[in-house]
Amino acid sequence: MLSEFDLIRQYFTRVNHNDARIALGVGDDCALINPTPGRQLAISSDMLVEGRHFFAGADPFALGHKCLAVNLSDLAAMGAKPFAFTLALALPEANAAWLQAFSRGLLSLADQYGCHLIGGDTTKGPLTICITIWGEIVPSQALRRDRAKVGDDIWVSGSLGDARLALAGYLQGVQLASTELEIAATRMHQPTPRIELGLALAAENLAHAALDVSDGLAGDLGHILTRSQVGASLFLDRLPAGEVLQRQSRDLRRAFTLSGGDDYELCFTAPRAHREKILTAGSTSATPVTRIGFIEAQLGLRLLDDQRSLVDFPINSFDHFLSS
Ligand code: ADP
Ligand code: MG
Repeated sequence: MLSEFDLIRQYFTRVNHNDARIALGVGDDCALINPTPGRQLAISSDMLVEGRHFFAGADPFALGHKCLAVNLSDLAAMGAKPFAFTLALALPEANAAWLQAFSRGLLSLADQYGCHLIGGDTTKGPLTICITIWGEIVPSQALRRDRAKVGDDIWVSGSLGDARLALAGYLQGVQLASTELEIAATRMHQPTPRIELGLALAAENLAHAALDVSDGLAGDLGHILTRSQVGASLFLDRLPAGEVLQRQSRDLRRAFTLSGGDDYELCFTAPRAHREKILTAGSTSATPVTRIGFIEAQLGLRLLDDQRSLVDFPINSFDHFLSS
């Protein structure tokens, strides 16, 4: 049986981080950090609980990826560069095969973004994974939620709705071919944090406001609108549907792009004058970006069809589309 200390040493300790900012990593009472002079730290936590955020028995490699990806996504949405994270883990048992796969999923994504695991806590309990992450940012470049301006375009990265479609495939009787379910499920289990795009937007101050879409576009955009005291119109049929969702009915497409959840795409607002530069930032960061609407003074969220007529479509109500 692995002791807590063996487990930490074996799966969660890097001997050498090769980063002068990390004076001391895992193994002491605290990690010691030399922050880059002149940078602000962007800090965020996200907790994943078995049965609530992922299914019991979830694949441990994908889970390791996902729990770091959702934290990296918060840094992306702020325009911050990943730096380090801590991992607080409650485990029902010390299962070597599970830990091996989990730590590989976690640390391979960490390595991809140069984000160092510098500490944490480990305890016995129902499977719960809590990560706190640090990024660095140039002061004044942070992509906040409260800076959207009337007349801004609204943009979204990548595509929406496939993660929600996978959930419907598992639980709600939407029939998907097994290859389609697999593609959609990859979106659900292994989201791609949009770090490069967030950095590109921040570096040139291209966006006024941004956040990452975790609970559904309409609801999350609502946070920008509330914090910025503005309203918005969205072109319902320009919302970029995921590759599997694209082949579903129009109503399901509309419902899941608008309020699907688990997308981890960036939604941001930006002045019209930045359109060209934003398209360039999208291509240099290899991240598709789509213009989906605009910010206006009238509070609330309105949905438009391609002729700019108001569409009466229920936000946050999938049940109607899933009942058949
Ligand atoms: P303490 O009792 O002082 O909190 P711990 O025994 O919990 O110390 O942890 C020992 C060392 O291992 C600390 O440096 C801590 O940050 C690190 N650590 C514990 N759990 C994890 C984990 N899951 N991932 C990474 N580091 C961890
Ligand atoms: Mg401890």
